[in-house]
Amino acid sequence: MYDTLIIGAGPAGMTAALYAARSNLKVALLEAGIPGGQMNNTSDIENYPGYANISGPELAEKMFEPLETLGVEHLFGRAENIVDQGSYKEITTDDGLLQAKTVIIATGSNHRLLGVPGEEELNSRGVSYCAVCDGAFFRDEDLMVVGGGDSAVEEAIFLTQFAKSVTIVHRRDALRAQKVLQDRAFANEKIHFAWNTVVEEIKGDNRVTSLVLKDVQTGEVREQAAGGVFIYVGLDPVSDFAQDLGILDDQGWVITDDHMKTSVPGVFAVGDVRQKDLRQVTTAVGDGAVAGQEAYKYITEHEE
Ligand code: FAD
Ligand code: NAP
Repeated sequence: MYDTLIIGAGPAGMTAALYAARSNLKVALLEAGIPGGQMNNTSDIENYPGYANISGPELAEKMFEPLETLGVEHLFGRAENIVDQGSYKEITTDDGLLQAKTVIIATGSNHRLLGVPGEEELNSRGVSYCAVCDGAFFRDEDLMVVGGGDSAVEEAIFLTQFAKSVTIVHRRDALRAQKVLQDRAFANEKIHFAWNTVVEEIKGDNRVTSLVLKDVQTGEVREQAAGGVFIYVGLDPVSDFAQDLGILDDQGWVITDDHMKTSVPGVFAVGDVRQKDLRQVTTAVGDGAVAGQEAYKYITEHEE
């Protein structure tokens, strides 16, 4: 029986583990992939205080390193269900059952699909959701990036070091991304914009060769050649396994209060998986710190 089981080893989960372990709790960190979460998918993090610029994987490593020394158990596996048994929680994983007095959900979010013909068929054959992973395979290509948020603009800038050109296809005439990223993209000669435009189809036999684009104002449809397309149209919460607890909103984000408590006593949620406005590394670690501390309080109060 763990005092605290944390599901997901992104920045939120790793910080929750740090705080819970420093309160002397018996802590396990369950991770289905590589510790670091979404930080592993970005090359430069420029808005984490203390570092002018640090690569995502390096920051991930720095967050993970101290946990072992503090006695946090790192478990490989995927949470599939959580049952509230009152004084403890039972967590079904793909590798068996775990029990813990408190659970901190830190499973973040996944990239959303565009949902157009050709996307699934050409996935990994010119369709990508990760510029850091795949960008180097697209040297001297004309690329397209779909979306207008931080991810689309930041990753479009990243891709210009390999690509001949990058066209950002956005459904409106204004970007959602932070001003600093917008300014950088507007100043980059390799970046072009297709405003008020949506993707109707991704075409290619064995690899992406072109995209069918539609101007939403005029209705005009055209085909534009492209060697690859990177899709950044937002994120969906990873929370299916918590469905039965009744703690999700209608889009699947976990509802918590300011103490990271859900409506189920002893179950907390932190980071991107929470219903919140600003999804960043800084806000994820802030949530993690609060939940680590709250788990300790919950356990001491219930043991008195
Ligand atoms: P995540 O980082 O998503 O981690 C969740 C972890 O949970 C993952 O490791 C996953 O494998 C694991 N997991 C999921 N389901 C299960 C399960 N069922 N069982 C076990 N484990 C599971 N923010 C910034 O502040 N600065 C940036 O420059 C920046 N750049 C970004 C670039 C991109 C392309 C993207 C997509 C995001 C970027 N962000 C940036 C946002 C930032 O990465 C996230 O806000 C942050 O990583 C959220 O942390 P998290 O711990 O909540 O979730
Ligand atoms: P996001 O902020 O939700 O932006 C998604 C973009 O895709 C929006 O511009 C949206 O258009 C567009 N879009 C959504 N559905 C679409 C569809 N079906 N077809 C076409 N376009 C569609 O997602 P994100 O950019 O991935 O960012 C996610 C979170 O991570 C944010 O909190 C962000 O701040 C954070 N992040 C931070 C950094 C950083 O700090 N440097 C970097 C990356 C990500 P509209 O604008 O019209 O809604």
